Amino acid sequence: EPMMRDEVQFAATPLGFVMRTRLPVVVIVGRPNVGKSTLFNRLVGRRVAVVEDTPGITRDRLYAETEWNGRRFQVVDTGGIVFSEEDPLSEQIRVQANVALEEADIVLFLTDARDGMNPDDMDLARELRPVKKPVLVVVNKADNPERDSFANEFYSVGLGEVYPVSGLHGRGVADLMDVVVDLLPPASEIDVDDRTEVRVAIVGRPNVGKSSMINAFTGEQRMIVSDIAGTTRDAIDTELEYHGEKFRLIDTAGIRRRGKIQGSVEYYMVDRAQKAIDKADCAMVVVDGNEGLTDGDKRIMKLAHDAGKAVVFAINKWDLKEPPDGHPRHMTQIKKDFIKVVKNEIPELNYATAAFTSAKESAGLGPALDEVLRAQEAYNFRISTGQLNRLIQEAVFSRPYSSKGRVLKIYYATQVSTRPPTFVLFCNDPELLHFSYQRYLLNKIREAFPLEGTPVRLTAKSSH
Ligand code: GDP
Ligand code: GDP
Repeated sequence: EPMMRDEVQFAATPLGFVMRTRLPVVVIVGRPNVGKSTLFNRLVGRRVAVVEDTPGITRDRLYAETEWNGRRFQVVDTGGIVFSEEDPLSEQIRVQANVALEEADIVLFLTDARDGMNPDDMDLARELRPVKKPVLVVVNKADNPERDSFANEFYSVGLGEVYPVSGLHGRGVADLMDVVVDLLPPASEIDVDDRTEVRVAIVGRPNVGKSSMINAFTGEQRMIVSDIAGTTRDAIDTELEYHGEKFRLIDTAGIRRRGKIQGSVEYYMVDRAQKAIDKADCAMVVVDGNEGLTDGDKRIMKLAHDAGKAVVFAINKWDLKEPPDGHPRHMTQIKKDFIKVVKNEIPELNYATAAFTSAKESAGLGPALDEVLRAQEAYNFRISTGQLNRLIQEAVFSRPYSSKGRVLKIYYATQVSTRPPTFVLFCNDPELLHFSYQRYLLNKIREAFPLEGTPVRLTAKSSH
């Protein structure tokens, strides 16, 4: 399992779901030499090895997990971000501020009591003022009480209370940590996955077998089913339980039963599918496996993709596909071929998974829900900052990218959200992150983590 257990909190809901919560993040910013890495090492309670076998790759001193008064959180040392000689300090300051802006729950703005206030401190303070999160002004190198008075001048950066500490000797650090822990958001507020059910939109063009599918699900003995009347007569969801998980099937099949339809069937099909997909986490796109892909199928698939939801194909009417000799090996090949066709026709849906069903014979329904569950897990997947940065650095190292004489530099990567997993790269120039290179990085991420079934988003942020 690639997810490192110690970097996520697991908690089971009454329904047996596994929730994944992000640990709160404390980001240390400050100009060079104020003592960021010294404080970082003190906070994480150990000397983090700075082993640079392959230059630019081992950057574990950037992030580490720690605990204070029973609260676990992650510490990010923006001083661990590797800049080169030619990168101006102003760029470093902006990258730090951007990381604080995107990722921090609390920012420790580190300054130096020995040097006193410096214009670079002022620049950084200016960048940090719009950050709508607690920013603590920490005045380091206050090794003895006499030094504390030097801290007072930092009130003038206009960020409130100042905290004198000595990262080297530990003085004042415990008091600072008490304040930090008090300011941490409650665990329940951080990226809470409040699923109590998996919401699945059953979509597809007319006659592929959506109604039959719902009927098959509700007739299935192993599943506990109840109908939930919606606000309108045509919006009836079906709840069912399978493998201890609760599913809500959001049905679009009612369309043809509603009598007279104004406008084109096509319009209604798309409109209904869109509404169902919007309400769902996962779109189950039902297609007629006997007919092959039609333009109508592709339109629905595109809707699911554009909505950024998890996608599972239910390739239905599979009972009609029995080869003459019925040999299972042939069936496996036919399945593979069908998936290949789907992926060739709609390359952007490359991540979707598929199950083969027969609504008529009530076959393949369990496996279809298994695929939905897997896609749902992927949709909610969170990668640790450490793993993500290691992966991105290795990818960039093995295939550097430059355009028009400029080298793309990725300073830092972070996952900003789940549902679907969304990543931000802080780089010297987002224009340099060409589409093909973006795809290269996305493929690396997909190779390393179980993300089948979900779209994944990757955006670049400038430090400018
Ligand atoms: P960074 O560039 O901000 O990560 O700074 P470092 O952690 O590398 O520290 C820069 C220098 O300041 C090093 O020589 C540290 O030993 C020193 N230093 C860090 N914290 C303290 C402190 O609390 N007191 C004193 N006297 N020196 C410190
Ligand atoms: P919907 O318009 O997508 O809701 O499709 P229906 O569920 O109304 O099914 C359309 C037709 O396909 C009906 O005649 C069904 O009996 C038939 N059908 C649905 N699923 C299957 C299946 O898995 N196998 C076969 N052979 N026929 C099916």
